Amino acid sequence: MANLQEKPTSSSRPKLNFGSKWDYAPAPESTAVVDIAPEYGQFIAGEFVPPSSGQTFETINPATEEVLSRVARGCQADVDKAVTAARAAYEGTWSKISAPDRGKYLYRIARLIQDRSREFAVLESMDGGKPIKESRDVDIPLVAQHFFYHAGWADKLEYAFPNQTVSSLGVAGQIIPWNFPLLMAAWKIAPALACGNTVVLKPAETTPLTALLLAKVIQEADLPPGVVNVVTGDGEAGAALASHPGLDKVAFTGSTEVGKAIRRSAKTRNVTLELGGKAANIIFEDAPIDQAVEGIINGIYFNQGHVCCAGSRLLVQESVHDEVVQKLSDRIATLRVGDPLDKNTDIGAINSREQYDRICSLVEAGKAEGAEFHQSDVPVPGKGFFFAPAYFTGVAQSHRIAQEEIFGPVLSIMTFRTPDEAVAKANNTKYGLSAGIWTDKGSRIFKMLSKMNAGVVWANTFNKFDPSSPFGGYKESGWGREGGAQGLGAYLEVK
Ligand code: NAP
Ligand code: MG
Repeated sequence: MANLQEKPTSSSRPKLNFGSKWDYAPAPESTAVVDIAPEYGQFIAGEFVPPSSGQTFETINPATEEVLSRVARGCQADVDKAVTAARAAYEGTWSKISAPDRGKYLYRIARLIQDRSREFAVLESMDGGKPIKESRDVDIPLVAQHFFYHAGWADKLEYAFPNQTVSSLGVAGQIIPWNFPLLMAAWKIAPALACGNTVVLKPAETTPLTALLLAKVIQEADLPPGVVNVVTGDGEAGAALASHPGLDKVAFTGSTEVGKAIRRSAKTRNVTLELGGKAANIIFEDAPIDQAVEGIINGIYFNQGHVCCAGSRLLVQESVHDEVVQKLSDRIATLRVGDPLDKNTDIGAINSREQYDRICSLVEAGKAEGAEFHQSDVPVPGKGFFFAPAYFTGVAQSHRIAQEEIFGPVLSIMTFRTPDEAVAKANNTKYGLSAGIWTDKGSRIFKMLSKMNAGVVWANTFNKFDPSSPFGGYKESGWGREGGAQGLGAYLEVK
Protein backbone atom coordinates (compact mmCIF):
# COMPACT_ATOMS: atom_id res chain seq x y z
CA MET A 1 0.00 0.00 0.00
CA ALA A 2 1.18 3.49 -0.75
CA ASN A 3 2.74 5.32 2.13
CA LEU A 4 1.38 8.83 2.50
CA GLN A 5 4.60 10.17 3.95
CA GLU A 6 6.59 8.94 0.96
CA LYS A 7 4.18 10.13 -1.67
CA PRO A 8 5.91 12.44 -4.19
CA THR A 9 4.32 15.87 -4.11
CA SER A 10 4.61 19.14 -5.91
CA SER A 11 4.84 20.99 -2.62
CA SER A 12 8.22 22.13 -1.37
CA ARG A 13 7.07 22.25 2.23
CA PRO A 14 8.84 19.85 4.59
CA LYS A 15 6.89 16.64 5.15
CA LEU A 16 5.00 16.43 8.41
CA ASN A 17 4.71 13.29 10.42
CA PHE A 18 2.61 14.17 13.41
CA GLY A 19 1.43 10.61 13.88
CA SER A 20 4.71 9.17 15.06
CA LYS A 21 5.83 12.36 16.83
CA TRP A 22 2.91 12.57 19.20
CA ASP A 23 2.09 9.15 20.45
CA TYR A 24 -0.23 9.39 23.40
CA ALA A 25 -0.45 6.97 26.30
CA PRO A 26 -3.61 4.86 26.07
CA ALA A 27 -6.63 6.58 27.65
CA PRO A 28 -9.40 3.99 27.61
CA GLU A 29 -12.85 4.90 28.84
CA SER A 30 -13.98 2.52 31.58
CA THR A 31 -16.58 -0.09 30.70
CA ALA A 32 -17.60 -0.37 34.36
CA VAL A 33 -20.38 2.10 33.69
CA VAL A 34 -22.30 -0.33 31.44
CA ASP A 35 -24.15 -3.40 32.58
CA ILE A 36 -24.78 -5.67 29.61
CA ALA A 37 -27.16 -8.56 30.23
CA PRO A 38 -26.22 -11.91 28.69
CA GLU A 39 -29.57 -11.98 26.89
CA TYR A 40 -32.29 -9.49 25.93
CA GLY A 41 -35.94 -9.96 25.04
CA GLN A 42 -38.20 -7.71 22.97
CA PHE A 43 -39.63 -4.58 24.59
CA ILE A 44 -43.38 -4.95 24.07
CA ALA A 45 -46.19 -3.31 26.07
CA GLY A 46 -43.72 -1.96 28.62
CA GLU A 47 -42.05 -5.30 29.41
CA PHE A 48 -39.04 -7.21 28.16
CA VAL A 49 -40.49 -10.46 26.80
CA PRO A 50 -38.83 -13.52 25.20
CA PRO A 51 -39.06 -13.88 21.39
CA SER A 52 -42.00 -15.91 20.07
CA SER A 53 -39.64 -18.18 18.16
CA GLY A 54 -37.38 -18.69 21.18
CA GLN A 55 -34.47 -17.71 18.91
CA THR A 56 -31.73 -15.22 19.68
CA PHE A 57 -28.71 -13.87 17.82
CA GLU A 58 -25.34 -12.49 18.90
CA THR A 59 -24.31 -8.88 18.88
CA ILE A 60 -20.55 -8.46 18.90
CA ASN A 61 -18.07 -5.70 19.61
CA PRO A 62 -16.58 -5.09 16.15
CA ALA A 63 -13.31 -3.84 17.68
CA THR A 64 -12.62 -7.12 19.46
CA GLU A 65 -15.01 -9.58 17.77
CA GLU A 66 -16.17 -10.58 21.27
CA VAL A 67 -19.82 -11.46 21.83
CA LEU A 68 -21.45 -8.78 24.00
CA SER A 69 -24.89 -10.31 24.38
CA ARG A 70 -27.60 -12.39 22.74
CA VAL A 71 -30.68 -10.58 21.53
CA ALA A 72 -34.18 -11.78 20.63
CA ARG A 73 -34.69 -12.64 16.97
CA GLY A 74 -37.99 -11.02 16.17
CA CYS A 75 -40.40 -12.55 13.67
CA GLN A 76 -43.89 -11.85 12.32
CA ALA A 77 -45.54 -12.97 15.59
CA ASP A 78 -43.45 -10.49 17.64
CA VAL A 79 -44.20 -7.70 15.21
CA ASP A 80 -47.92 -8.54 15.45
CA LYS A 81 -47.77 -8.35 19.25
CA ALA A 82 -45.84 -5.08 19.20
CA VAL A 83 -48.22 -3.44 16.70
CA THR A 84 -51.21 -4.61 18.77
CA ALA A 85 -49.61 -3.16 21.92
CA ALA A 86 -48.88 0.12 20.14
CA ARG A 87 -52.48 0.32 18.86
CA ALA A 88 -53.91 -0.36 22.34
CA ALA A 89 -51.62 2.31 23.84
CA TYR A 90 -52.60 4.79 21.12
CA GLU A 91 -56.31 4.28 21.60
CA GLY A 92 -56.23 3.72 25.34
CA THR A 93 -53.89 6.43 26.60
CA TRP A 94 -51.52 8.28 24.31
CA SER A 95 -54.10 9.90 22.03
CA LYS A 96 -56.11 10.92 25.10
CA ILE A 97 -53.49 12.56 27.33
CA SER A 98 -52.96 16.29 26.98
CA ALA A 99 -50.30 17.71 24.71
CA PRO A 100 -48.38 19.34 27.62
CA ASP A 101 -48.31 15.91 29.29
CA ARG A 102 -46.82 14.35 26.18
CA GLY A 103 -44.18 17.07 26.35
CA LYS A 104 -43.46 16.26 30.00
CA TYR A 105 -42.76 12.62 29.15
CA LEU A 106 -40.38 13.67 26.40
CA TYR A 107 -38.56 16.08 28.71
CA ARG A 108 -38.26 13.27 31.23
CA ILE A 109 -36.72 10.93 28.63
CA ALA A 110 -34.31 13.68 27.53
CA ARG A 111 -33.13 14.29 31.09
CA LEU A 112 -32.72 10.57 31.80
CA ILE A 113 -30.59 10.25 28.65
CA GLN A 114 -28.42 13.12 29.88
CA ASP A 115 -28.13 11.49 33.31
CA ARG A 116 -26.96 8.25 31.73
CA SER A 117 -25.02 9.79 28.84
CA ARG A 118 -21.71 8.13 29.70
CA GLU A 119 -23.36 4.73 29.86
CA PHE A 120 -25.06 5.31 26.51
CA ALA A 121 -21.81 6.54 24.92
CA VAL A 122 -19.73 3.59 26.12
CA LEU A 123 -22.39 1.08 25.07
CA GLU A 124 -22.74 2.72 21.64
CA SER A 125 -18.99 2.50 21.08
CA MET A 126 -18.83 -1.11 22.27
CA ASP A 127 -21.72 -2.37 20.15
CA GLY A 128 -21.07 -0.35 17.01
CA GLY A 129 -17.33 0.49 16.96
CA LYS A 130 -17.50 4.28 16.80
CA PRO A 131 -14.84 6.25 18.73
CA ILE A 132 -15.89 7.26 22.21
CA LYS A 133 -15.16 10.90 21.48
CA GLU A 134 -17.86 10.81 18.81
CA SER A 135 -20.47 8.86 20.75
CA ARG A 136 -19.76 11.01 23.83
CA ASP A 137 -19.50 14.42 22.14
CA VAL A 138 -21.74 14.07 19.08
CA ASP A 139 -24.25 11.21 19.15
CA ILE A 140 -25.52 11.22 22.72
CA PRO A 141 -25.76 15.02 23.13
CA LEU A 142 -27.70 15.16 19.84
CA VAL A 143 -29.99 12.37 21.07
CA ALA A 144 -30.87 14.38 24.20
CA GLN A 145 -31.31 17.52 22.07
CA HIS A 146 -33.77 15.70 19.82
CA PHE A 147 -35.94 14.76 22.77
CA PHE A 148 -35.72 18.25 24.29
CA TYR A 149 -36.50 19.91 20.95
CA HIS A 150 -39.55 17.73 20.28
CA ALA A 151 -40.73 17.99 23.88
CA GLY A 152 -41.04 21.71 23.18
CA TRP A 153 -43.19 21.12 20.09
CA ALA A 154 -45.64 18.69 21.73
CA ASP A 155 -48.08 21.41 22.86
CA LYS A 156 -47.33 23.91 20.06
CA LEU A 157 -48.08 21.86 16.97
CA GLU A 158 -50.72 24.29 15.72
CA TYR A 159 -48.02 26.99 15.53
CA ALA A 160 -45.97 24.81 13.19
CA PHE A 161 -48.96 24.68 10.81
CA PRO A 162 -50.83 28.00 11.16
CA ASN A 163 -54.44 28.13 9.97
CA GLN A 164 -54.56 24.36 9.60
CA THR A 165 -55.71 21.60 11.90
CA VAL A 166 -53.37 18.82 12.89
CA SER A 167 -53.98 15.38 14.33
CA SER A 168 -51.82 12.36 15.07
CA LEU A 169 -51.62 9.48 12.60
CA GLY A 170 -51.73 6.46 14.94
CA VAL A 171 -49.10 3.71 15.04
CA ALA A 172 -45.68 4.25 13.43
CA GLY A 173 -43.36 1.42 12.36
CA GLN A 174 -39.75 2.63 12.35
CA ILE A 175 -36.71 0.81 10.99
CA ILE A 176 -33.20 2.14 11.55
CA PRO A 177 -29.60 1.38 10.50
CA TRP A 178 -26.37 0.71 12.40
CA ASN A 179 -24.35 3.83 11.71
CA PHE A 180 -25.98 6.12 14.31
CA PRO A 181 -27.99 3.58 16.29
CA LEU A 182 -29.26 5.68 19.17
CA LEU A 183 -29.38 8.94 17.22
CA MET A 184 -31.55 7.36 14.52
CA ALA A 185 -33.83 5.94 17.25
CA ALA A 186 -34.17 9.48 18.66
CA TRP A 187 -34.82 10.98 15.20
CA LYS A 188 -37.67 8.52 14.80
CA ILE A 189 -39.19 8.24 18.28
CA ALA A 190 -39.08 11.86 19.49
CA PRO A 191 -41.18 13.47 16.69
CA ALA A 192 -43.58 10.50 16.59
CA LEU A 193 -44.37 10.81 20.31
CA ALA A 194 -44.48 14.61 20.26
CA CYS A 195 -47.14 14.42 17.56
CA GLY A 196 -49.19 11.92 19.56
CA ASN A 197 -48.34 8.66 17.79
CA THR A 198 -47.17 5.37 19.27
CA VAL A 199 -44.19 3.45 17.95
CA VAL A 200 -42.72 0.06 17.06
CA LEU A 201 -38.96 0.43 16.44
CA LYS A 202 -36.69 -2.14 14.74
CA PRO A 203 -33.00 -1.39 15.36
CA ALA A 204 -30.24 -2.83 13.14
CA GLU A 205 -29.04 -6.34 13.77
CA THR A 206 -25.45 -5.33 14.61
CA THR A 207 -26.34 -2.48 17.00
CA PRO A 208 -29.42 -3.27 19.10
CA LEU A 209 -28.03 -2.55 22.57
CA THR A 210 -28.51 1.21 22.91
CA ALA A 211 -32.09 0.94 21.60
CA LEU A 212 -32.72 -1.62 24.34
CA LEU A 213 -31.15 0.68 26.95
CA LEU A 214 -33.39 3.44 25.63
CA ALA A 215 -36.35 1.07 26.14
CA LYS A 216 -35.24 0.72 29.77
CA VAL A 217 -35.06 4.50 30.12
CA ILE A 218 -38.55 4.75 28.64
CA GLN A 219 -39.74 2.23 31.21
CA GLU A 220 -38.07 4.32 33.94
CA ALA A 221 -39.73 7.46 32.58
CA ASP A 222 -43.01 5.68 33.26
CA LEU A 223 -44.33 6.08 29.74
CA PRO A 224 -47.66 4.26 29.41
CA PRO A 225 -46.95 0.64 28.33
CA GLY A 226 -47.02 0.12 24.56
CA VAL A 227 -46.33 3.74 23.58
CA VAL A 228 -42.83 2.66 22.53
CA ASN A 229 -42.05 -0.95 21.57
CA VAL A 230 -38.71 -2.30 20.37
CA VAL A 231 -38.55 -5.46 18.26
CA THR A 232 -34.98 -6.63 17.62
CA GLY A 233 -34.09 -8.84 14.69
CA ASP A 234 -32.78 -8.87 11.15
CA GLY A 235 -34.22 -7.92 7.78
CA GLU A 236 -37.03 -10.44 8.23
CA ALA A 237 -38.36 -8.55 11.27
CA GLY A 238 -37.84 -5.29 9.37
CA ALA A 239 -39.84 -6.56 6.38
CA ALA A 240 -42.63 -7.89 8.65
CA LEU A 241 -42.86 -4.49 10.31
CA ALA A 242 -42.68 -2.40 7.14
CA SER A 243 -45.50 -4.33 5.48
CA HIS A 244 -47.73 -4.62 8.56
CA PRO A 245 -51.34 -3.65 7.80
CA GLY A 246 -51.80 -2.28 11.32
CA LEU A 247 -49.52 0.73 10.75
CA ASP A 248 -50.51 4.31 9.94
CA LYS A 249 -46.96 5.38 9.19
CA VAL A 250 -43.67 3.80 8.15
CA ALA A 251 -40.35 5.58 8.67
CA PHE A 252 -37.15 4.03 7.42
CA THR A 253 -33.47 4.97 7.39
CA GLY A 254 -31.11 2.70 5.54
CA SER A 255 -30.05 1.65 2.07
CA THR A 256 -31.82 2.77 -1.09
CA GLU A 257 -32.42 -0.83 -2.13
CA VAL A 258 -34.29 -1.74 1.07
CA GLY A 259 -36.04 1.66 1.03
CA LYS A 260 -37.51 0.91 -2.40
CA ALA A 261 -38.75 -2.50 -1.21
CA ILE A 262 -40.35 -0.86 1.82
CA ARG A 263 -42.08 1.73 -0.35
CA ARG A 264 -43.60 -1.11 -2.36
CA SER A 265 -44.67 -3.24 0.60
CA ALA A 266 -46.00 -0.56 2.97
CA LYS A 267 -49.78 -0.64 3.42
CA THR A 268 -49.97 3.02 4.41
CA ARG A 269 -49.42 6.05 2.19
CA ASN A 270 -47.52 7.77 5.02
CA VAL A 271 -43.96 6.68 4.29
CA THR A 272 -40.71 8.56 4.88
CA LEU A 273 -37.39 7.21 3.64
CA GLU A 274 -33.91 8.45 4.50
CA LEU A 275 -31.57 6.60 2.16
CA GLY A 276 -28.05 6.65 0.78
CA GLY A 277 -25.83 9.46 -0.43
CA LYS A 278 -22.67 10.30 -2.35
CA ALA A 279 -22.08 13.86 -1.23
CA ALA A 280 -19.69 16.19 -3.02
CA ASN A 281 -17.48 18.41 -0.91
CA ILE A 282 -16.53 21.25 -3.28
CA ILE A 283 -13.36 23.24 -2.60
CA PHE A 284 -12.80 26.47 -4.56
CA GLU A 285 -9.36 28.03 -4.92
CA ASP A 286 -10.38 30.99 -2.74
CA ALA A 287 -11.45 28.72 0.16
CA PRO A 288 -9.63 28.78 3.49
CA ILE A 289 -7.71 25.61 2.60
CA ASP A 290 -6.68 24.56 6.12
CA GLN A 291 -10.27 24.83 7.34
CA ALA A 292 -11.51 23.03 4.25
CA VAL A 293 -9.10 20.17 4.95
CA GLU A 294 -10.56 19.87 8.45
CA GLY A 295 -14.00 19.85 6.82
CA ILE A 296 -12.93 17.03 4.51
CA ILE A 297 -11.61 15.06 7.51
CA ASN A 298 -14.89 15.62 9.34
CA GLY A 299 -16.82 14.86 6.17
CA ILE A 300 -15.46 11.41 5.36
CA TYR A 301 -13.27 10.02 8.17
CA PHE A 302 -15.75 10.93 10.92
CA ASN A 303 -17.50 7.77 12.19
CA GLN A 304 -15.33 5.59 9.85
CA GLY A 305 -17.20 7.09 6.90
CA HIS A 306 -20.35 5.27 8.05
CA VAL A 307 -22.37 8.38 7.33
CA CYS A 308 -25.11 8.61 4.70
CA CYS A 309 -24.29 12.29 4.15
CA ALA A 310 -20.49 11.70 4.22
CA GLY A 311 -18.50 13.98 1.90
CA SER A 312 -17.27 10.91 0.05
CA ARG A 313 -16.47 12.78 -3.17
CA LEU A 314 -14.02 15.67 -3.05
CA LEU A 315 -14.33 18.11 -5.94
CA VAL A 316 -11.35 20.41 -5.82
CA GLN A 317 -10.61 23.31 -8.15
CA GLU A 318 -7.70 22.32 -10.39
CA SER A 319 -5.47 25.24 -9.34
CA VAL A 320 -5.39 24.11 -5.70
CA HIS A 321 -5.55 20.35 -6.25
CA ASP A 322 -1.92 19.60 -5.33
CA GLU A 323 -1.98 21.84 -2.27
CA VAL A 324 -5.23 20.34 -0.97
CA VAL A 325 -4.08 16.76 -1.58
CA GLN A 326 -0.74 17.41 0.15
CA LYS A 327 -2.41 18.98 3.18
CA LEU A 328 -4.98 16.22 3.32
CA SER A 329 -2.26 13.59 3.12
CA ASP A 330 -0.35 15.26 5.98
CA ARG A 331 -3.50 15.48 8.08
CA ILE A 332 -4.57 11.88 7.46
CA ALA A 333 -1.17 10.72 8.68
CA THR A 334 -2.08 12.11 12.12
CA LEU A 335 -5.35 10.20 12.47
CA ARG A 336 -5.24 7.44 15.06
CA VAL A 337 -7.04 4.19 14.26
CA GLY A 338 -7.85 1.71 16.98
CA ASP A 339 -9.68 1.02 20.20
CA PRO A 340 -13.02 2.89 19.98
CA LEU A 341 -13.02 3.27 23.75
CA ASP A 342 -9.68 5.11 23.78
CA LYS A 343 -10.27 8.84 24.06
CA ASN A 344 -7.41 9.50 21.61
CA THR A 345 -8.90 7.38 18.84
CA ASP A 346 -10.02 9.25 15.72
CA ILE A 347 -11.18 6.28 13.65
CA GLY A 348 -12.75 3.31 15.39
CA ALA A 349 -13.85 -0.08 14.12
CA ILE A 350 -15.79 -0.78 10.94
CA ASN A 351 -19.24 -1.85 12.12
CA SER A 352 -19.18 -5.44 10.85
CA ARG A 353 -17.15 -7.90 8.82
CA GLU A 354 -19.76 -7.60 6.07
CA GLN A 355 -19.25 -3.83 5.88
CA TYR A 356 -15.45 -4.25 6.01
CA ASP A 357 -15.66 -6.65 3.05
CA ARG A 358 -17.92 -4.22 1.17
CA ILE A 359 -15.36 -1.40 1.63
CA CYS A 360 -12.50 -3.66 0.47
CA SER A 361 -14.39 -4.78 -2.62
CA LEU A 362 -15.16 -1.20 -3.70
CA VAL A 363 -11.53 -0.21 -3.08
CA GLU A 364 -10.44 -3.07 -5.33
CA ALA A 365 -12.92 -1.89 -7.96
CA GLY A 366 -11.43 1.62 -7.76
CA LYS A 367 -7.92 0.28 -8.28
CA ALA A 368 -9.04 -1.97 -11.13
CA GLU A 369 -10.75 0.96 -12.87
CA GLY A 370 -7.49 2.91 -12.80
CA ALA A 371 -7.73 5.33 -9.89
CA GLU A 372 -4.67 5.76 -7.66
CA PHE A 373 -5.08 4.52 -4.10
CA HIS A 374 -3.32 6.16 -1.15
CA GLN A 375 -3.65 4.92 2.42
CA SER A 376 -2.20 5.97 5.72
CA ASP A 377 0.30 3.49 7.10
CA VAL A 378 -0.95 4.06 10.65
CA PRO A 379 -0.86 0.77 12.57
CA VAL A 380 -4.24 -0.94 12.97
CA PRO A 381 -5.13 -3.59 15.55
CA GLY A 382 -4.78 -7.21 14.44
CA LYS A 383 -8.17 -8.24 15.78
CA GLY A 384 -11.48 -6.60 14.91
CA PHE A 385 -12.44 -4.76 11.72
CA PHE A 386 -10.26 -1.74 11.03
CA PHE A 387 -9.58 0.23 7.88
CA ALA A 388 -6.85 2.90 7.79
CA PRO A 389 -7.99 6.22 6.26
CA ALA A 390 -7.49 6.36 2.52
CA TYR A 391 -8.22 8.33 -0.62
CA PHE A 392 -8.20 7.89 -4.36
CA THR A 393 -6.81 10.42 -6.83
CA GLY A 394 -7.33 10.31 -10.58
CA VAL A 395 -10.97 9.34 -10.16
CA ALA A 396 -13.25 9.54 -13.22
CA GLN A 397 -16.98 10.32 -13.01
CA SER A 398 -17.79 6.87 -14.33
CA HIS A 399 -15.81 4.94 -11.71
CA ARG A 400 -17.84 2.96 -9.22
CA ILE A 401 -16.00 4.77 -6.41
CA ALA A 402 -17.43 8.04 -7.79
CA GLN A 403 -20.97 6.72 -8.02
CA GLU A 404 -21.57 4.14 -5.27
CA GLU A 405 -21.52 4.52 -1.52
CA ILE A 406 -18.31 3.10 -0.05
CA PHE A 407 -19.60 3.82 3.48
CA GLY A 408 -16.05 3.66 4.80
CA PRO A 409 -13.10 6.02 5.42
CA VAL A 410 -12.23 6.29 1.72
CA LEU A 411 -12.42 9.53 -0.26
CA SER A 412 -12.66 9.86 -4.06
CA ILE A 413 -10.91 13.01 -5.30
CA MET A 414 -11.81 14.70 -8.58
CA THR A 415 -11.14 18.15 -10.03
CA PHE A 416 -13.12 20.92 -11.73
CA ARG A 417 -12.33 24.25 -13.36
CA THR A 418 -15.53 26.34 -13.26
CA PRO A 419 -18.47 26.61 -10.85
CA ASP A 420 -20.80 25.17 -13.52
CA GLU A 421 -18.58 22.15 -13.93
CA ALA A 422 -18.56 21.69 -10.14
CA VAL A 423 -22.37 21.75 -10.05
CA ALA A 424 -22.66 19.34 -12.98
CA LYS A 425 -20.26 16.89 -11.35
CA ALA A 426 -21.79 17.25 -7.90
CA ASN A 427 -25.24 16.44 -9.34
CA ASN A 428 -23.96 13.54 -11.40
CA THR A 429 -25.06 10.65 -9.16
CA LYS A 430 -28.35 8.92 -8.49
CA TYR A 431 -28.23 10.36 -4.96
CA GLY A 432 -28.89 13.87 -3.66
CA LEU A 433 -28.63 13.89 0.12
CA SER A 434 -26.00 16.48 0.97
CA ALA A 435 -23.08 18.56 -0.27
CA GLY A 436 -20.48 21.03 0.95
CA ILE A 437 -19.17 24.25 -0.59
CA TRP A 438 -15.95 25.92 0.52
CA THR A 439 -15.33 29.43 -0.81
CA ASP A 440 -14.69 32.94 0.40
CA LYS A 441 -17.59 34.32 -1.67
CA GLY A 442 -21.04 34.25 -0.10
CA SER A 443 -22.71 35.09 -3.41
CA ARG A 444 -21.10 32.03 -5.02
CA ILE A 445 -22.48 29.81 -2.25
CA PHE A 446 -26.04 31.01 -2.89
CA LYS A 447 -25.67 30.74 -6.65
CA MET A 448 -24.31 27.21 -6.38
CA LEU A 449 -26.81 25.89 -3.93
CA SER A 450 -29.77 27.00 -5.99
CA LYS A 451 -28.52 24.63 -8.70
CA MET A 452 -27.53 21.70 -6.52
CA ASN A 453 -29.77 18.69 -6.09
CA ALA A 454 -29.00 18.05 -2.45
CA GLY A 455 -31.29 18.16 0.57
CA VAL A 456 -28.60 19.67 2.80
CA VAL A 457 -25.79 21.95 1.64
CA TRP A 458 -23.19 22.98 4.18
CA ALA A 459 -21.20 26.13 3.47
CA ASN A 460 -17.65 26.36 4.84
CA THR A 461 -18.42 23.54 7.24
CA PHE A 462 -19.56 19.92 7.01
CA ASN A 463 -21.57 17.30 8.91
CA LYS A 464 -23.24 19.70 11.30
CA PHE A 465 -26.61 18.61 12.68
CA ASP A 466 -29.30 20.31 14.66
CA PRO A 467 -32.77 19.03 15.59
CA SER A 468 -34.34 22.21 14.23
CA SER A 469 -32.91 21.67 10.73
CA PRO A 470 -34.85 19.43 8.38
CA PHE A 471 -32.81 16.60 6.84
CA GLY A 472 -33.56 14.51 3.78
CA GLY A 473 -32.67 13.91 0.18
CA TYR A 474 -33.40 14.43 -3.49
CA LYS A 475 -33.62 11.60 -6.04
CA GLU A 476 -32.72 8.15 -4.65
CA SER A 477 -31.61 9.62 -1.32
CA GLY A 478 -35.06 9.66 0.10
CA TRP A 479 -38.61 10.69 0.48
CA GLY A 480 -39.71 13.36 2.93
CA ARG A 481 -37.81 15.23 5.63
CA GLU A 482 -36.94 14.53 9.25
CA GLY A 483 -36.23 17.18 11.86
CA GLY A 484 -37.45 20.72 12.27
CA ALA A 485 -41.02 21.81 11.72
CA GLN A 486 -41.00 20.00 8.33
CA GLY A 487 -40.23 16.71 10.08
CA LEU A 488 -43.28 17.09 12.31
CA GLY A 489 -45.53 17.13 9.26
CA ALA A 490 -44.50 13.56 8.50
CA TYR A 491 -46.11 12.40 11.77
CA LEU A 492 -49.34 14.39 11.48
CA GLU A 493 -52.46 14.58 9.42
CA VAL A 494 -52.47 18.25 8.39
CA LYS A 495 -55.78 19.69 7.11
P1 NAP B 1 -30.12 -1.55 5.33
O1 NAP B 1 -29.57 -2.87 4.97
O2 NAP B 1 -31.09 -0.92 4.43
O3 NAP B 1 -30.72 -1.72 6.80
C1 NAP B 1 -31.42 -0.71 7.46
C2 NAP B 1 -32.43 -1.37 8.39
O4 NAP B 1 -33.40 -2.08 7.62
C3 NAP B 1 -31.83 -2.38 9.35
O5 NAP B 1 -32.54 -2.34 10.56
C4 NAP B 1 -32.07 -3.67 8.60
O6 NAP B 1 -32.03 -4.81 9.44
C5 NAP B 1 -33.44 -3.44 8.03
N1 NAP B 1 -33.76 -4.27 6.88
C6 NAP B 1 -32.94 -5.03 6.11
N2 NAP B 1 -33.65 -5.62 5.12
C7 NAP B 1 -34.93 -5.21 5.26
C8 NAP B 1 -36.13 -5.46 4.52
N3 NAP B 1 -36.16 -6.23 3.43
N4 NAP B 1 -37.27 -4.87 4.94
C9 NAP B 1 -37.28 -4.06 6.01
N5 NAP B 1 -36.18 -3.79 6.74
C10 NAP B 1 -35.01 -4.35 6.37
O7 NAP B 1 -29.00 -0.47 5.50
P2 NAP B 1 -27.70 -0.58 6.37
O8 NAP B 1 -26.67 -1.34 5.59
O9 NAP B 1 -28.04 -1.07 7.73
O10 NAP B 1 -27.30 0.96 6.53
C11 NAP B 1 -26.50 1.62 5.61
C12 NAP B 1 -27.31 2.43 4.64
O11 NAP B 1 -28.18 3.34 5.33
C13 NAP B 1 -26.49 3.27 3.75
O12 NAP B 1 -26.95 3.16 2.43
C14 NAP B 1 -26.71 4.69 4.25
O13 NAP B 1 -26.49 5.68 3.34
C15 NAP B 1 -28.09 4.63 4.74
N6 NAP B 1 -28.35 5.64 5.77
C16 NAP B 1 -29.10 6.73 5.43
C17 NAP B 1 -29.36 7.72 6.36
C18 NAP B 1 -30.18 8.92 6.00
O14 NAP B 1 -30.62 9.62 6.89
N7 NAP B 1 -30.43 9.20 4.75
C19 NAP B 1 -28.87 7.60 7.65
C20 NAP B 1 -28.11 6.47 7.97
C21 NAP B 1 -27.87 5.49 7.01
P3 NAP B 1 -30.63 -5.57 9.62
O15 NAP B 1 -29.76 -4.69 10.40
O16 NAP B 1 -30.95 -6.78 10.38
O17 NAP B 1 -30.12 -5.86 8.25
MG1 MG C 1 -22.68 -5.07 17.68
